[in-house]
Amino acid sequence: MKNVCEDINNIREFKQETNHVCEECVKTNSEWVHLRICQACGVTLCCDSSPHKHMTKHYHRSNHPVVISAEPGERWIWCYKHEVYAEY
Ligand SMILES: [Zn+2]
Ligand SMILES: [Zn+2]
Ligand SMILES: [Zn+2]
Repeated sequence: MKNVCEDINNIREFKQETNHVCEECVKTNSEWVHLRICQACGVTLCCDSSPHKHMTKHYHRSNHPVVISAEPGERWIWCYKHEVYAEY
């Protein structure tokens, strides 16, 4: 990919989800809108359109900057730290 940050460049193979749920929302019986997958640890969490914004919280807590969309048909990657968006 061109014009991306080193965080994205360092990823060789994208981590994919294992089950299509937000792991944090499931614990509290909450609902989510869309799902993202952390590329550092592989956790699947919800997006910023969701009430709890679990992936953004995960970034601030863990400093794992890079996520991909878990939505079918969406092929994009995002780095929170550098605010870089790229399609793949
Ligand atoms: Zn970055
Ligand atoms: Zn969630
Ligand atoms: Zn993570």
